[in-house]
Amino acid sequence: MSTSIPATATATPECVFCKIIGGKIPASITYQDEHVLAFKDLEPAAPFHELVLPLRHVAALADAALADAELFGRLMVAAAERARSTGHAASGFRVVMNSGPSAGQTVFHVHLHVLAGRPLAWPPG
Ligand code: 5GP
Ligand code: ZN
Repeated sequence: MSTSIPATATATPECVFCKIIGGKIPASITYQDEHVLAFKDLEPAAPFHELVLPLRHVAALADAALADAELFGRLMVAAAERARSTGHAASGFRVVMNSGPSAGQTVFHVHLHVLAGRPLAWPPG
């Protein structure tokens, strides 16, 4: 499935997720709307592991401003929709957003991890 960046979006050329959004790197895309994309994580940490991200490049949650509130809300709603439509909502799923290196963020284009399909320990490491 190819995707294209809306004219209003900003792409950062060296960002791997912007490349996926632009169709320059393949990914198993599972959901797309005018603001949000979801695809399967390359190295799944659970039987169900998808990433939900904005088409617009925002580096980290640490950069979020009030003007981004609707977009971040859309990410959460898309995550819930992915859990529901794949049958993981009733049993339970986890949504994680790492922000910054100490939290484990490795790709600096904000994204939610949606994890399910096994018991998920708490607290996380
Ligand atoms: P972070 O560590 O930033 O919270 O999460 C980055 C996630 O992106 C990791 O779980 C990693 O497996 C995934 N990832 C990194 N590069 C790619 C890629 O090119 N394609 C896909 N589908 N996932 C990727
Ligand atoms: Zn990006």
